[in-house]
Amino acid sequence: MKSVRLHAAHDLRVHEEPIPVPIADETLLRVTAVGVCGSDLHWYNEAGIGDARLHHPLVLGHEFAAVIANGADRGRRVAVDPALPCGRCVWCREGHPNLCPYTRFSGHSKDDGALREFMAWPAHALFPLPDAIDDASGAMLEPLGVALHTVDLAHMRPGMHVGVFGCGTIGLLTLQVARLAGATWLFATDVLPHRLVAARELGATDVLQATGDEHAESQAILAATGGRGLDVAFECAGDQAAVDAAFDAVRIGGKVILCGIPSDDRTSFVASIARRKGLTIKMVRRMKHVYPRAIELVSRRLVNVQALITHRYKLEDAPEAFAVANRREGIKVMIEL
Ligand SMILES: [Zn+2]
Ligand SMILES: [Zn+2]
Repeated sequence: MKSVRLHAAHDLRVHEEPIPVPIADETLLRVTAVGVCGSDLHWYNEAGIGDARLHHPLVLGHEFAAVIANGADRGRRVAVDPALPCGRCVWCREGHPNLCPYTRFSGHSKDDGALREFMAWPAHALFPLPDAIDDASGAMLEPLGVALHTVDLAHMRPGMHVGVFGCGTIGLLTLQVARLAGATWLFATDVLPHRLVAARELGATDVLQATGDEHAESQAILAATGGRGLDVAFECAGDQAAVDAAFDAVRIGGKVILCGIPSDDRTSFVASIARRKGLTIKMVRRMKHVYPRAIELVSRRLVNVQALITHRYKLEDAPEAFAVANRREGIKVMIEL
């Protein structure tokens, strides 16, 4: 089978290698679609992410759909949860598997991911896809799951004013989920104009092009909300200017949900702003058991994931797909097998 491995920063190579043999509770999967994620681009550019470094020539890929290739369910199309929490530690047992420090993750550290024709993955992490969800949309359920968890953390109420700072895939999905959760005003910011066009089409009521002057951005939001500010600010850029704009634009007693991953592994904010407003600040760590809701929302066309897929490549063209994603030309770059 073909696989794509990251050997060093910017060094992706196509290989021929044996089909993996499933062990214990694993199922053999034939991979059908894999999304290129912002976190994959950290690996691609930095040969690591946060404090994790490249351990061996790694197969990336954690947003994916597949077809079961062995056993009684052979031929069934599935979405795949890339995270395998241990299920036994205190955090798992208290209902926070997303915080499990023993999690194995597809395309991270020692665990090869989905940029290959076949892979073996535990059966309990597979979710059958209805006919209404095609393979590429099935791969989008993983980032949608992150967006669901992001909005869940905000405990929104109908009629709230929210802002999404950073309109990549996660931002545009967070925007749609926040609208479903009852947001009536939805501000979206990004530095890239094509992302703001998408934000507008997907339900943003106001879009603001970020210029690096976060004060101007937050002033515009404050003016539009009659000086009150946002009930919830979702930071989905992993960028310091977006963090600062989010803290500036949120109301007294509001919430800031930090979802972006910063390249330099450090996030800061002006303490006096956060303190005087008495802000609640939450960090997003992956997701909980949200795949059933993600499947429901996409199959009922309540969240549009297809509009986010702007580029499609074959597996052997993965090096080009990553170069395009790295230039931030589109929104979601999808690799289809
Ligand atoms: Zn991802
Ligand atoms: Zn655990």
